[in-house]
Amino acid sequence: MENVSFKPAKWWEESDNGKLLCTLCPRYCTIGDGQAGFCYIRQNIGGKLYSIGYGKPTGFAIDPVEKKPLNHFLPGSKILSFGTAGCNLGCKFCQNWSISKARLDDINSLSVSPEDVVMLAKKYNLPSIAYTYNDPVIFGEYVIDISKIAYEEGINSVMVTAGYIDKNARKEVFQYIDAANVDLKAFTETFYHKLSFAHLEYVLDTLIWLKKETSVWFEITNLMIPDENDSIDETKKMCQWIVENLGDEVPVHFTAFHPDFKMINKTNTPASTLNNARQIAVAAGIKYCYVGNVHDSIGQNTYCPECKKLIIQRDWHSIIENKLSNSHCPYCNTLIAGIFS
Ligand code: SF4
Repeated sequence: MENVSFKPAKWWEESDNGKLLCTLCPRYCTIGDGQAGFCYIRQNIGGKLYSIGYGKPTGFAIDPVEKKPLNHFLPGSKILSFGTAGCNLGCKFCQNWSISKARLDDINSLSVSPEDVVMLAKKYNLPSIAYTYNDPVIFGEYVIDISKIAYEEGINSVMVTAGYIDKNARKEVFQYIDAANVDLKAFTETFYHKLSFAHLEYVLDTLIWLKKETSVWFEITNLMIPDENDSIDETKKMCQWIVENLGDEVPVHFTAFHPDFKMINKTNTPASTLNNARQIAVAAGIKYCYVGNVHDSIGQNTYCPECKKLIIQRDWHSIIENKLSNSHCPYCNTLIAGIFS
């Protein structure tokens, strides 16, 4: 395959003392010659910034789209999934840290051109490609090049992201994106600051921008960590904010944490916490609320928000039955929000 290393980066400017300021994400790293930014895969080489993760996936998988998780985007379809090394957040609870915390030279990356990624999706007859596993924001140039070709070939692109991206860069990175799952990790600045080395306000701003200024279909995931972001009060505030700012049709997934990375002393999230969160979201008016990473015979299904009947029955990431009729409830004809064909 073509060697696509050392792609000149977008979104940077010269800073003091020969350093470069990366303006891709709100971390705004100042990077000296020979150094890389916080995410490891954007490097100053001789006074120019390069996207050294460009064309370097850590591997590919074919996943159910429900695993992203997306429950209202082509349910039951499969999606070509990949990520690279590195990440622009520093989550102590990272559930995927062997990839996100790896530097490029720690990991056996492939060398794959954007055309080859799209060809792979076509070869396996997959309707969508997911930029996932680590945060695709940091390989935004690669996302743009792949998603543009995918768009021309009629293949969808899905971002699985924490939404931690600069206002200007996001317009370009999301230009050809059809759907996203945005991780809303918590609803307090304390959590973001202490456990993710990031700031909540930028994530909320991205969510509002997605809703008001794009046609990207998106769903929200909230990974619930015992005693860190699972209080009733915090969940209530988050759900109220979602309804007020994003409306009541954005699906919300409350998912279970398992002890990992630097938080191995925590316990798994009890199923009751997820169920309670789902009830809080329903009471706040959110129409489509789910639980994830646990078996739950109710919280994984889609119910009509009007007549309350079961429309899509799931078991973990599998569809047991999909009764949707041309995006409508088959019982009362209510239009169900999402992209279903
Ligand atoms: S994308 Fe990477 S290098 Fe750029 S500001 Fe964010 S963490 Fe730093």
